[in-house]
Amino acid sequence: MVPKKRIDEILDTYDPDDITIATLCSHSSLQIFHGARKMGFKTLGLTIKHDTKYYDAFPLAKPDEIIKYKDFEDMEARVDELYEKNVIIIPHGSFVEYMGPKRFEDYEVPVYCNRSVLQWESNRDMERQWLTSAGINMPRIFTDAREITEPVMVKYHGAKGGMGYFIAKDYPDFKMSIDNSMPYSIQEYCLGTRYYLHFFYSPFKDDGYKLKRGGSLEMLSIDRRDESNIDEMYKLGSIEDAKRHGLYPSFVVTGNTPAVIRESLLPKAFAMAENAVERSYELFGGMWGPFCLETVVNDKLEFKVFEISTRIVAGTNPFISGSPYADLIYPGLSTGGRIAMEIRDSIKNGHLKDLMT
Ligand code: AMP
Repeated sequence: MVPKKRIDEILDTYDPDDITIATLCSHSSLQIFHGARKMGFKTLGLTIKHDTKYYDAFPLAKPDEIIKYKDFEDMEARVDELYEKNVIIIPHGSFVEYMGPKRFEDYEVPVYCNRSVLQWESNRDMERQWLTSAGINMPRIFTDAREITEPVMVKYHGAKGGMGYFIAKDYPDFKMSIDNSMPYSIQEYCLGTRYYLHFFYSPFKDDGYKLKRGGSLEMLSIDRRDESNIDEMYKLGSIEDAKRHGLYPSFVVTGNTPAVIRESLLPKAFAMAENAVERSYELFGGMWGPFCLETVVNDKLEFKVFEISTRIVAGTNPFISGSPYADLIYPGLSTGGRIAMEIRDSIKNGHLKDLMT
């Protein structure tokens, strides 16, 4: 991991009045650039192979400049160009996934997040240790496939966007679908409604929903993911019938739709997010900025969290001009805008280094 001292040295050379916000061209980049421009920052898109012509269609979210790299090695080698532009990187899910968490940890450019969170997030056992020790309910784990006596979700490690996940109802069902060449984990299948809760933690804000350790927790929006083809599978009758015709359910994320939860669930949602933040400071120096709890709510109105995402998620994209929650704090502001606001305020108040690793 890049030593924090090195990041601070780089930031010492930056002109605080001329910061450029950069991210990889994909995922939530439209929203990040749009938000950064709203707060008066210059913007820079970084790309390897991605087609960037679609930005022309969205002038208010088009980055001021785009750098095309040959590959990630090229991107790592050419960091000097970014220092000249006083670049701060906003990480998003695809950035970390495409670059690889290890490489991202070593990328010598100031990044708005705590890089120490990456190993806690990308290792399923450590993620579970973090969240369960924060008192958060997670799906039960099956260590022996022969003990499957109820529907389970089988997840290959490092699977991208639900790719390859499958549901099994018993051991023979599991044996029929498992690819033993890849590591996997078996979780209780949580039946209920899925909600992806988008929070933002500011360590410096001192009003609103305050945390014990200081700072303030905000809920900016909620989405539900569209997943192909599981969302439409019911149209074919039973999953077992479909399987007989060679059609298997899959959980590949294709888009997002806005959601709200019943108001009586909000105290539980905030308690979970609060505990996850507090525990992150005890375990690895904290998690700040945007994060998402991926949940299922059952018919007893209990949450189960099956994943945490510790940066901006693409589920915030429906809320470029605000959300039913953000509008009660900052009318019309997106998560991308909130990130830029936090950076702008931290520059003004001399806290920028505290948010960068
Ligand atoms: P993930 O990669 O963990 O975000 O999961 C991808 C998708 O699989 C989720 O959006 C859910 O639709 C589904 N999923 C994951 N874990 C579970 C679970 N334990 N029970 C039910 N559905 C799940």
